[in-house]
Amino acid sequence: MNTMYESLGVSREVSDFAETILAGLEERFHEIDETAEYNQLKVIKAMQDARVSAECFETSSGYGYNDRGRDTLEEVYANVFQTEAALVRPQITCGTHALAIALSANLRPGDEMLSISGKPYDTLEEVIGIRPSRGSLAEYGVTYAQVDLLPDGSFDYEGIRRALRPQTKLVEIQRSKGYQTRPTLSVAQIGEAIAFVKQLRPDIICMVDNCYGEFVERIEPGELGADMVVGSLIKNPGGGLAPAGGYIAGTLACVEQCAFRLTSPGLGREVGANFGVMQSFYQGLFLAPTVTAAALKGAIFAANVYEKLGFSVVPNGTEDRHDIIQAVEFGFPEGVIAFCEGIQSAAPVDSYVTPEPWAMPGYDSDVIMAAGAFVQGSSIELSADGPIKPPYAVYFQGGLTWPHAKLGILKSLQRLVEKELVRLP
Ligand SMILES: *Cc1c(COP(=O)(O)O)cnc(C)c1O
Repeated sequence: MNTMYESLGVSREVSDFAETILAGLEERFHEIDETAEYNQLKVIKAMQDARVSAECFETSSGYGYNDRGRDTLEEVYANVFQTEAALVRPQITCGTHALAIALSANLRPGDEMLSISGKPYDTLEEVIGIRPSRGSLAEYGVTYAQVDLLPDGSFDYEGIRRALRPQTKLVEIQRSKGYQTRPTLSVAQIGEAIAFVKQLRPDIICMVDNCYGEFVERIEPGELGADMVVGSLIKNPGGGLAPAGGYIAGTLACVEQCAFRLTSPGLGREVGANFGVMQSFYQGLFLAPTVTAAALKGAIFAANVYEKLGFSVVPNGTEDRHDIIQAVEFGFPEGVIAFCEGIQSAAPVDSYVTPEPWAMPGYDSDVIMAAGAFVQGSSIELSADGPIKPPYAVYFQGGLTWPHAKLGILKSLQRLVEKELVRLP
């Protein structure tokens, strides 16, 4: 084994250090495997109940009427997420698009949307119109209000009560911290907040941005009353195989609204060819529980490695996990750059390129990104990025297999050691 690691540029010193960290993680990894086992059974049961058959993988073109593969897949998603219905399509281009559909389909001029988990994910700022943008909800006369989480990361129930107004139509909850430093919300916490809102105002639609959270726990927000659960297929539920796409699982009423918005009034769910992606959608979902487990192990391993070396990590090495994102705060730019170089050099694709910070559109500082993915932009595959500004933190996620996630972290550490940015104990 050591020879193999050495052939990939990992020194004996680095792998020995890693093994001492791993020795302490056996119990955590066992729990993750059990969650994966539970979720694997859940997915298989959902596929059996929907009577998935080989015909479901056939391609369709044109209008896509009576597309059995597509309709059955949507039934499978509804079963997995314990909702009445689901919309799962290659025509949903990404997570932001899925969220934009869910919002614009269910809000009308004069309605207000209320985020109760603080500032939403960056790309939603333009969807909502917090940052002026063409076609935003604000342009259509939908207003926005926000209640921040309390300093300890929990819901501000008093604030929520005060913020509910007669025109409040939809409440948004973001499960993952995204690229913020707040803790990620657990499904149980989200369920409690939904119950609180519903008890005051049963008519309000509760929508959960579920990105990066799928299959990390045994339950999903739909089981605790969410009216819509929304995410991207190039994150957890695509299992690394879906080449693009998004999903919205929820009540029949909400999902139908979304379908009429995605395609056209009058057409709804009836149209939408599958272009031959069905097998990858089904098989990706089938793999998603174990792929998510691999990514989670990588995140926990990294947290423990870098914590041991004295860096601040979010979540920390022992915390419960509710998404797959790991942040490591280096405090100096060279750390972020070396980490990303290491991740890149561990990739199966584009391992020979060197990532460099650059002025990406939409960001207020240079950003460095590492990804050598089979599906472009896929962040269930091992990937890392960091803005070159204080506190010089790197955010990393993914790994389709645990051995790859492990190699990525070893290579990141190797790079830091070579550049004399850290010294192993
Ligand atoms: C990734 C992400 C999104 C947006 O998804 P894209 O596929 O990148 O458009 C929205 N919310 C959260 C919390 C995310 O992590």
